[in-house]
Amino acid sequence: MRYAMAIDTRKCVGCSDCVVACQTENNVPLGFCRDWITETVDGSYPNVELELRSERCNHCDNAPCVRCCPTGASHIIEGGIVKVEPEKCIGCGACIESCPYDARYSHPEGYVDKCTFCDHLVERGESPACVAVCPTKCMYFGDLDNPDSDVTKALKNRKFKALAPEAGTKPQIFYLL
Ligand code: SF4
Ligand code: SF4
Ligand code: SF4
Repeated sequence: MRYAMAIDTRKCVGCSDCVVACQTENNVPLGFCRDWITETVDGSYPNVELELRSERCNHCDNAPCVRCCPTGASHIIEGGIVKVEPEKCIGCGACIESCPYDARYSHPEGYVDKCTFCDHLVERGESPACVAVCPTKCMYFGDLDNPDSDVTKALKNRKFKALAPEAGTKPQIFYLL
């Protein structure tokens, strides 16, 4: 099993509903977030293209944040989900420094936090909060090893990219182009 997410850059309207849903579902403290919207403008007038992306931890296959964690707080669970165990985290920030995506933040209670792929929802058969709330249904989540999963089907017929592949972390969030 390998959980992943595909996000359709043609459908995202940058409304930030995914950000608010995540903050609510995961009790993210005020002023912080586990996901965010990035806008990229390509080209020059009159051929300008705007890309809107909902970004979050990429649940990398080759995760430097896990390797550098001195206490084992950052770890990988079934399905490749990268998580932080708050009780084991000493807040040293090594994982924050090592992440090329700036996907982690220091929680005011002294540990590091980030996207969990809403594993607490996924384990009871529900979709991650951001996926469920998206008004344009631009996010597809599921098991890459299952040919019938939403994410596998979404990636089947479209071109896609991952962010900063040159970092070598093998990210598992894919952007449909
Ligand atoms: Fe770690 Fe950053 Fe990759 Fe998430 S995106 S697994 S925090 S390196
Ligand atoms: Fe590990 Fe916490 Fe240090 Fe991050 S801040 S490397 S999770 S102990
Ligand atoms: Fe937040 Fe869950 Fe979406 Fe991750 S999967 S960004 S934790 S709502």
